[in-house]
Amino acid sequence: MRTNPAKKRIIILGGGFAGVKCAQTLRRALAPGDAEIVLFNRENHLVFTPLLADVIGSSVNPLDVVVPLRQLLRGVTCRTEEVIGIRATQNEIVYYSSDGQPSRLKYDHLVLACGNVANLNAVPGMADHAFPLKNIGDAIALRSHVMEQMEKAETCADPERRRWYLSFIVVGAGYSGVEAAGEINDLVRDSARYFQNFRAEDVKVTLIHSRDAILPEIGDRLREFARRKMEQTGVRILLNSRVDSASAEGVALQGGEFVKGATIVCTVGSSPSPILERLAAPRDKGRLMAEPDMRVRNFTNVWATGDCAHIINAHDGQPSPPTGQFAERQGRQCALNIVRTLQQGQVRAFSFKPLGRFCAIGGNSAVAEFMGIHLSGFGAWLLWRGVYLFKLPAWARRFQVGFDWAWLFLFPRDLAHLRARQTDRVSRAHYRAGDFLVHEGEASASFYVIESGEVEVVRSGGHGGDEVISVLGSSSFFGEQALLSNEPLAYSVRARTTVKVLVMGRNVFTQVSQTLAPLRDALAETLNRRSIDLWKVHPKAFDVLKATGVRDLMETVPLPLFKPSSTMAEVGRAFAEHNHELFYVCGEGQVLEGVVTMTDWMRALSQGAGPDTPIAELMKHNPVTLCRDDDGAVAATVVREHRLKHLPVVDCSSRRLVGCLRTRRLMAHVFSKIPRPEHIRANLTAV
Ligand SMILES: Cc1cc2nc3c(=O)[nH]c(=O)nc-3n(C[C@H](O)[C@H](O)[C@H](O)COP(=O)(O)OP(=O)(O)OC[C@H]3O[C@@H](n4cnc5c(N)ncnc54)[C@H](O)[C@@H]3O)c2cc1C
Repeated sequence: MRTNPAKKRIIILGGGFAGVKCAQTLRRALAPGDAEIVLFNRENHLVFTPLLADVIGSSVNPLDVVVPLRQLLRGVTCRTEEVIGIRATQNEIVYYSSDGQPSRLKYDHLVLACGNVANLNAVPGMADHAFPLKNIGDAIALRSHVMEQMEKAETCADPERRRWYLSFIVVGAGYSGVEAAGEINDLVRDSARYFQNFRAEDVKVTLIHSRDAILPEIGDRLREFARRKMEQTGVRILLNSRVDSASAEGVALQGGEFVKGATIVCTVGSSPSPILERLAAPRDKGRLMAEPDMRVRNFTNVWATGDCAHIINAHDGQPSPPTGQFAERQGRQCALNIVRTLQQGQVRAFSFKPLGRFCAIGGNSAVAEFMGIHLSGFGAWLLWRGVYLFKLPAWARRFQVGFDWAWLFLFPRDLAHLRARQTDRVSRAHYRAGDFLVHEGEASASFYVIESGEVEVVRSGGHGGDEVISVLGSSSFFGEQALLSNEPLAYSVRARTTVKVLVMGRNVFTQVSQTLAPLRDALAETLNRRSIDLWKVHPKAFDVLKATGVRDLMETVPLPLFKPSSTMAEVGRAFAEHNHELFYVCGEGQVLEGVVTMTDWMRALSQGAGPDTPIAELMKHNPVTLCRDDDGAVAATVVREHRLKHLPVVDCSSRRLVGCLRTRRLMAHVFSKIPRPEHIRANLTAV
C-alpha cells in the first residue's frame, strides 16, 4: 500500500544491463519520497555476459562474473520473482510470489527489460544435444562438460572414441561463438600436458558459421586477422555452412558433411521472452517496436529497453544491435525520459554513438575497434581486458576478475571439475541414423524408451565384427538390464532411422519402476524373455536363420496400400473384400507410415469413429520394420521381442515398403531344414 498517493511506482522487469542501469539512474534522479522503484528479476544477480566465455575456459571464477542486485541497487526494491503476466489495461503485472501463488502489483510506469531467451528449436536435435550460452548456469555446465570430456579421453582405450571426446563444435561465429571457441581451444590444448593419453594435436575445435566471414559486425581487416589467428591456434573454421541437424554424435551440415564431436555449443537462436507474447504491441522479429523515446508503441506508460526492444538509434537511423553496450545506454536514457515525463518535461529520442567493439579470439589475442582505432593481437587483448575490467559494475568484482586474470600469468588454468550431483531427471534425446545411443561395455546410467524411429541392438565379436542381433521400434525400451544388474552394457544400440528417445536417469527409473505396477510387470516380463538366449537353446535354428536372408522369405505386401488420409469406410471395405489381417499405410514414395489391423479398425468403430475418419487417427504409427538385407535370425528376434505375426520389410536406405514377412513362413522355413522339428517346437513353446 502506498501511503503517499503522489508517490509513483515504477516497475522494472529484468535485472540485466538495461534494467540495472535504468534502476540506478531512476534512483539517482528521483527522491525515495517521490518514487518507489521495484525491480523484478528471476535471479538475484546481474550476469556480466561478456565474461561468460572466460568461465567456460576457466580463466575466471564463475562467481566473479555475477553481481548481486541487492548490493548493486541500494534504495531499489529488488524482488527475486518471476513475472508471469502483464495486464497493461489495468496497469499491473502478475508474478509468482514466494508462496507460489500468482500475485499482482500496480504500476504507474513499467519498463520492460527482460532480454531474450535462447531458442535452439530451429534445428532438429539442437535443443536436445547442444549447450546454449546465455546465462551463468549454461557456462558452468559447459565448463564442467568440457572437463569431463578430457577425463573421459584420458581413460578411453578406443582411439576413435577418444578423438570424438576431444572434438568440440561451436555453432555461430558472432562474438559469443568466437570467444567460446577460443576459450575452449585454449583450455583443452593448454591442459593436454597434464594428461597422458592425448596430446594438444588431438584436440579439434570446429567453428561453424552460415555466412562467408566470422564476426560480421567487425571491419574486414580485423575479421580476416581473427580468422587467420584462430586457425593458427588450431580452430577449424567452416564458413557458408548451415547445420541441418544435431545428434549425440555431432552435427550434420546442409551440404552433407557430418562433423563429429562430443560437445556442441550453440550460440545462435534466440526468441523474445515469452512474457511479452500477449502484449498488444507491434514487433520486429519478436522485439517490441518502441517509439524513439523508448515507449512501447500504442502505450503511454510502458517502456522497452535492451534486447527485447526494437529501438531506432537516432545517431545513425539504424536499429540498435542486441548488445550490452546498447542495453546499458537505453536503460539510462529510458530512465531519464521517465523522469522527464513525471516532471512534465520534453522526452528525448534514443541516440548513442558506440564506443567500440572488442572480441577475444583465444591465444591471448583479440580484435578491437575503439574510438576509431583498429587494433589486433596481444595489445588489443590487453585493451579488451582493461575495458571489461572497468565495465564490471562493482569494485569488488573488478578486483576479483583482475586477480583471476593475473593468476593465469603465473599458474595454469584450474582443472578442478566439481561434479555437483544433480537431481536425476527425465530428458529427451534425438539421434540420426547410424549414431550410437549406448556403447557395449559402458556403465549404463539410464533407461531408454523409444518414442519414434528404430534402433538396432549390436553385439561385437560376432560373425565378422559387429553383429545386429535385434531391432527395436517405438514404445520398446532398453538399458533396464544393465541398470538393474549394475553391470556394463552387454550390447551397443545404434539408430537405424532418425530416433527420439525418452531418457530416464537411474533414480527416476528406480522410483517409477517400483511404484508403477504396469511398468514393473512389463519390465519383469521383458527381463525374463531377454534373459533367455534363444540361440543357445537352438543353435541349429540359429545357423539356419543366419544363413537365410529376409529377402528370401518375404512376400508381397497385402494390397491395397492405404494413405494416412484414407478413410475408415475404405479400409472397412478392404477388410470385407480381402482375406488380410492388416493393411499398410504409406506416404509419399511408398514410405511406410503405419499399419492398421482388423482389431484397430473394430476398436475405432466401437469408439465412435465415423466412415470419413482418416485412418491416420486409428493406425499404429511407425511400426517396427525389417530391412531387406537383414538375416532370418534378426527377423526371428524381432518377432519374439515384438510378438508380431507380420513384419513389414523396407529398403533400408529409402525406407520404402518392399514386402512383408509372416512369422508362419519363418517357422516353416526352420522346420523344413531341421531334422527334429518336434524338439524345437516343444522348446519354442516353452520360451
Ligand atoms: C555469451 C554472451 C556474450 C556476450 N558478449 C557481449 C559483449 O562482449 N559485449 C556486449 O555489448 N554484449 C555482449 N552480449 C550481449 C549482451 O549480453 C546482451 O545484449 C545484454 O545482456 C542485453 O541486456 P538486457 O538487459 O536487455 O537483457 P538481459 O541481460 O538478458 O537481462 C534480462 C533479465 O531479465 C530477467 N527476466 C526475463 N524474463 C523475466 C521474467 N518473466 N521475470 C523475471 N525476470 C525475468 C532475466 O532473468 C535476465 O536477468 C553477450 C551475450 C552473450 C549471451
